[in-house]
Formats: sequence, C-alpha cells, structure tokens
Amino acid sequence: MNPAAQPRVAIIGGGPAGLMAAEAASMAGAQVDVYDAMGSVGRKFLLAGKGGLNLTHAEPFARFVERYGARQHEVSRWLQAFDATALRAWARDLGVETFVGSSGRVFPHDLKAAPLLRRWLHRLRAAGVRLHMHHRWLGWQAHGTLHFATPGGERAVPTDALVLALGGGSWPQLGSDGAWVAPLAQAGVDIAPLQPANCGFELAWSAHLRQRFAGAPLRPLVAQWVDRLGIAHRRQGECVLSEYGIEGSLIYAIGAELREQIAERGEALLRLDLAPGYALPALVERLAAPRGKHSLGDWLRRRAGLDAARCALVFELTDAATRADPHALAAHIKALPLRLRAPRPLAEAISTAGGVRLEALDDNLMLRARPGVFVAGEMLDWEAPTGGYLLTACLASGLLAGRGAADWLRAQQGRQDARETRD
Ligand SMILES: Cc1cc2nc3c(=O)[nH]c(=O)nc-3n(C[C@H](O)[C@H](O)[C@H](O)COP(=O)(O)OP(=O)(O)OC[C@H]3O[C@@H](n4cnc5c(N)ncnc54)[C@H](O)[C@@H]3O)c2cc1C
Repeated sequence: MNPAAQPRVAIIGGGPAGLMAAEAASMAGAQVDVYDAMGSVGRKFLLAGKGGLNLTHAEPFARFVERYGARQHEVSRWLQAFDATALRAWARDLGVETFVGSSGRVFPHDLKAAPLLRRWLHRLRAAGVRLHMHHRWLGWQAHGTLHFATPGGERAVPTDALVLALGGGSWPQLGSDGAWVAPLAQAGVDIAPLQPANCGFELAWSAHLRQRFAGAPLRPLVAQWVDRLGIAHRRQGECVLSEYGIEGSLIYAIGAELREQIAERGEALLRLDLAPGYALPALVERLAAPRGKHSLGDWLRRRAGLDAARCALVFELTDAATRADPHALAAHIKALPLRLRAPRPLAEAISTAGGVRLEALDDNLMLRARPGVFVAGEMLDWEAPTGGYLLTACLASGLLAGRGAADWLRAQQGRQDARETRD
C-alpha cells in the first residue's frame, strides 16, 4: 500500500495489550506508532516472566470464560477472536513453543518472557511499527492532538486513530500508574475506581506468628466462605502466611468476593479447613483419644496431620477453653475463622480491578464518547485470577482494538473519498 494513503494509528502503552494492538493494526494495513512513558516496553510482561510466564490456560473454553466472573459475557467475545489455542499458535509463530503444566497452566518451554518479547519486537519493527520511548501521555490538546511529556519537553502529536493500552495501577514503578484516569474522566469516559486484584489480605497477627511463620505455606487447605448472595462455597488450594496477613493463589482466586465484602461490611470472614483429609467426626475421635504426655502441638501433628504453621494458626486463633475440648478444637480446625480487614494496596497487587467500564465501549472496544479512540488491556473494567487469564484477555482485547482502529480509519477514509467524488 502507498504509505501516504495508509491510515495512521497511534498506540499508547507498550505492554502486551498495546503491542498486540500494534501488530493487529499493522497487519490490517495501518502505519503504527507506539508511545510509552518508560525507556523500554513490556516491563510488567518481563516481570511476569520471573514467575515462569503463565501465558494462558488449557481448560475448555466454557470453563475458561467463567474466570472473568461478572464480565465473562463481554470477555468471551474478545476470546472468540483470540483464545488460548490462538495464543499458543501465535507464540509458536514467534518461535516460542509452549507446554501445559500439571495444573493446566500454559508456559513457554524456557519459562521466560524476554526471548518472546525480543522476537515479538523484532517482528513488529520489521513490519514498520515505530516505537517512541519516554513519551508520557498527558491527555488531549485541541482537535484531539495527543499531548506528551518527553525528556526534550512537551510534544503535540496529531493522530488519525488511537488505541490506549495504559495498563492498570499496580506496580507503578513498571510504568502503569493509573494516571490516565484523570484525562479520560475529563473526556466524559465512565471509569470504575481502580482496585487491587490478585492481592493479599490483611489480618492482625501476633508478633510471634509474624516473626516465626511469615512466608510459611499452608497446604493442604480448603477455604470456605459465604458470598454476598448467601451461597456457601468451598475451594481447595494453597496460600501463604505473610507478615501482614495471608496471600497466595487460593486467596487471589476468591479475592474479588473478599474485597467486595470488606467494602460493604468492613471485614470478610474466611474459614480455613486445615485438615481436609479428615471428616469432622473422625477428627473429633482422633483428638479425643488419651493424649498421654504429648504436648498439644505434637498431638495436632500426629492426630490431625497439622504441620508447624497450621498448628501455630490454631494456637493463634483459638482460646484455651476451645483447645481443651476435642469437639470444639476439631470444629475450629475444620473451619478456622479468619477476619480479613483490608486488601493490600493497589501498588502491590498483581493486577487491577476497575477501569474503563465496558458499557463505555462499542463491540470493537471504541469509546462511544470519543470516536476513533479504542481501549485495551488491563485498563478496562474486568478482572480474573492468576492462571494465564490476565495475559490472554489483554492480548485478545489488544487484537480487537488494534484491528478495530485500522478498520475504523479505513471506513472514515472511504466515507471521505465518497464525499469528495460526489462533490
Ligand atoms: C508480578 C506479576 C506477575 C504477573 N504474572 C502474570 C502471569 O504469569 N500471567 C498472566 O496472565 N499475567 C501476569 N501478570 C499480569 C500481566 O502482566 C498484566 O495483566 C499485563 O501486563 C497487562 O498488560 P497491559 O498491556 O494491559 O498493561 P501493562 O503491561 O501494564 O502495560 C502498560 C504500558 O503502558 C505504559 N503507560 C502507562 N501509562 C502511560 C502514560 N501515561 N503514557 C505513556 N505510557 C504509559 C506503561 O509504561 C506500560 O508499558 C503479572 C503481573 C505482575 C505484577
């Protein structure tokens, strides 16, 4: 295509969503410029690589989309354009083979993000995508011109269409700090408050528990809670005691419900079954047997299978009378109450809930309030647990937004050409 006739798409934000938008817009025939506040793109993606880079999940599509909770309907539409299978094919195309781990999570063979990102950037540059680093977007100036702060001073950049992929508000040191909320709100875009997702929760532990057991894993374990509709749930998994409270994949998976309960009631009640291998009557019977000279800690280890960390939790959260009664003690071990007071701050969270409300967008992720402006990735109002669901939805939404921006521009140009011919 003649470059002069090519539509120009600006992408702001060089995380996975923005880079995928760049690739999609470029493949749809647009000239693409990517702007990012930092000195290099994909910093959070590289950090995800430190944990093995869980790219996606191999479970069936119907189960996969349920992970997006209240937003599964909308996200499933994005995933129809780019699902886990498409993601693995895309990685293979970049020369990165993936494998399915025992839990169904999908990783690159080398468990690293850097080689994938390197190859991806090489392919984007070869396709003509231009990267502009140290460009912090501040908002719009008159006539929709983009306003950037750069080391050389402020810069105004005109654009035909725009994809915003500015990330959420967690780990601001990596570039996504949520500062985009102000200019978008000013432009009339409806934004749900940014909140921590996939984060730990705070509890007031004793100094003894903090000092001796922070970092200790709790497993096996079943969490039990009653949701805001009054429905009781049980879920097996793992979590970790931390200095401030509790964290880990099981907590992340139910974190949205816990966070909302705290917002509504000031606390969330989570019960832990520390001995899921024993039914309550069996555990009562085992604990009621004559203890002889054994200390209670030793007895809990032998008769209930509790390790030191789970024993310490029982001592922390029961009184002497409960510990002296095998029935009450067993009941507590099977449903130890934790009163969670607050989620950890957004800056520490793995991901962000809240963001641009999906109702503010059309089917191609274009802002209804600002035609020609598309939004993708974690800055949109959806959330999901860890397990590869975050990157998959970021990439899928990036693809839709990038393709949507190029198509929208082409349609605009078509309309203008038709007008000129008519006149
Ligand atoms: C420790 C950790 C581990 C993770 N591991 C996984 C994992 O294994 N699997 C998984 O699925 N997900 C994982 N995630 C989540 C995943 O990394 C994010 O969901 C994903 O990176 C979000 O992509 P994004 O493109 O929407 O935003 P980001 O990756 O945050 O990219 C946004 C970009 O926008 C730029 N930007 C922001 N504001 C401006 C501005 N005003 N002007 C210009 N540029 C701006 C930023 O510099 C950044 O480059 C992990 C996250 C963390 C923190």
